Amino acid sequence: MAAIRMHGLVKRFGEVSVIPSLDLDIRDEEFVVFVGPSGCGKSTLLRIIAGLEPVDGGDLFIGDRRVNDVPPAQRDIAMVFQDYALYPHMTVRDNMGFGLEMRNTPKDEIRRRVDRAAGMLRIAPYLDRKPKALSGGQRQRVAMGRAMVRNPKVFLFDEPLSNLDAKLRGEVRTEIKALAQQLRTTMVFVTHDQVEAMTMADRIVVLRAGVVQQFGTPEEVYKSPANQFVAGFMGSPT
Ligand code: ADP
Ligand code: MG
Repeated sequence: MAAIRMHGLVKRFGEVSVIPSLDLDIRDEEFVVFVGPSGCGKSTLLRIIAGLEPVDGGDLFIGDRRVNDVPPAQRDIAMVFQDYALYPHMTVRDNMGFGLEMRNTPKDEIRRRVDRAAGMLRIAPYLDRKPKALSGGQRQRVAMGRAMVRNPKVFLFDEPLSNLDAKLRGEVRTEIKALAQQLRTTMVFVTHDQVEAMTMADRIVVLRAGVVQQFGTPEEVYKSPANQFVAGFMGSPT
């Protein structure tokens, strides 16, 4: 079964058709990376899946449920943002548990889930600190942890590594990939970085101006680009 299905999806901002009509099926437990140049609609697409942006046409399914009119909190998804969007006045533990608290999850259950996620992400020693006392990589992990404690079916990542230096980026990339395999959830990951896409994805969606140019494995996209744009963008050998 598809984890996420988009059919004839349309998105406009005023007069501008940012996504003219998009069809896409993402499988259960698949790690899919949306890649494309700045402004091609990657974040918009992710925000549509998250329910943060309404669509102007078409159907969006998460699992077997049509979610066009389902609010974000009821979509069984969690999103990790580029700027982490942590609350500065709250400790790491409270940042991670806040979403669950809002849903009236029992306190001991919140504690259990936060401890487990913190262990997996190696941030257990920092649970009582405020975000400003953490490094960029640690903050990134807190943002991940906050998503993990919700046990979502689908994780959405919007360029979560772009604020990290090159060395750390490689490390966190490997960690996210390992987590994906451990958690067995569907991951949709947005980046403008071809190398990131090639190393992380089960399948890559190459986007240009809101239109899917190719959807395939890293090898397919790199070795058999569908067109000049894909070849150029992915740096395929000529
Ligand atoms: P990407 O994440 O691939 O860089 P975005 O999804 O952010 O691209 O943006 C796609 C297009 O939609 C861009 O042309 C951008 O300017 C436009 N856009 C995004 N959000 C808005 C908005 N809230 N209002 C108007 N235009 C927007
Ligand atoms: Mg973006």
